[in-house]
Amino acid sequence: MIPGSALLLAAELSAGPGTAEAIEARRTTVFLDFGGGRLEPGSGPGQASCVTSEFSYPMFLGSERAAAVALQEARRLVEPYGVRVVSERPPAPLPFTHVRIGGAPGTLGLDPKLNGLSCEVDCDDHVHPDTVFVFADKWITHAAIDEVDEEQLALQLGRIAIHESGHAWGLEHTGGSESIMARFPSAAVPSFVEGCQELDLDDPPQCPESRARYCEPGEQDAHAELLALFGDGEPDTQAPRVEILWPPDGWALAPGDRLAVELEVADDRPGFGWMLEVPELDWRHESTEPGTHAIELVVPEGRFTLHLEAIDHDRNVGEAEVVIVASVTAGSEPAPEPRLEAQCACRQRAGSPGPWGAVAWSLLLGCRRARRRG
Ligand SMILES: [Zn+2]
Repeated sequence: MIPGSALLLAAELSAGPGTAEAIEARRTTVFLDFGGGRLEPGSGPGQASCVTSEFSYPMFLGSERAAAVALQEARRLVEPYGVRVVSERPPAPLPFTHVRIGGAPGTLGLDPKLNGLSCEVDCDDHVHPDTVFVFADKWITHAAIDEVDEEQLALQLGRIAIHESGHAWGLEHTGGSESIMARFPSAAVPSFVEGCQELDLDDPPQCPESRARYCEPGEQDAHAELLALFGDGEPDTQAPRVEILWPPDGWALAPGDRLAVELEVADDRPGFGWMLEVPELDWRHESTEPGTHAIELVVPEGRFTLHLEAIDHDRNVGEAEVVIVASVTAGSEPAPEPRLEAQCACRQRAGSPGPWGAVAWSLLLGCRRARRRG
């Protein structure tokens, strides 16, 4: 554990330019998921905090062309920001906003008037992975509709997807038909409007502190808030920097010894995800926390690869790798039972990342070997 280093790095990363005192801009990805599939309660990937039991979410019933129009419109809306919109599931360590497109309000037991849902208004996008819903069956129920109609309907799907994502990033409803955060955006080309707009709420605002950074009470500057949350939309061409500080390549140890792997991950634009994996053991640890980390491993006898990989939202990849060799030497340790190696194929994921900011942590891979008897 190197908590001092990790905290120091977090402080350095927080000192970048930005207008918001409490927010560090970090990029994100929006995944428009037209495919349906398993959904369960929770706040991690594949989960939603407002569903109460696991079920299979319905798929989108429209055409591929309709999906492409929705994707294009969603991209247009977030183009000014460090937000990428994709229709393929992002690779594992990358955090993303998951938009489930399909079904009807009744799928979640909701008022049929709703077009979409974000489980909560997540102030300052405190919880990084979010799931939101677009009730696409209200707009497009089959693929064989007139192309002109289909285009107009599909545009609405892209707009609802980003409106609900806006809630998941902490934005609330404003008046003004030109705002994508209006309850009923009716302008020909709505957007995240620059400048303070009056909130349009039935209840008190849920994120008054976020609003107050830019506007008077009762108003919201959606554009300024998204710029602070995600940065601008300029292409990112720089790969994350990754380094395995310890052990050195070729490190030899005895089976069953604890190995403290020290690693460092950083990028010019925060928001990336990273993972450390041992492919031979089918084990991986994923995280979105930048900085210096220490991870404890216990490996059985054998030759293993420690593979560190970080990926950012523009899909730049940084990689590092060392090989370690665990062998019985000097007779200090008995050899493991070969069949026990399979039990060490532990797969463990980090919990949801919580507040942004590096926290050093340690993980003990619980693969203590049973010793050979006698
Ligand atoms: Zn809304």
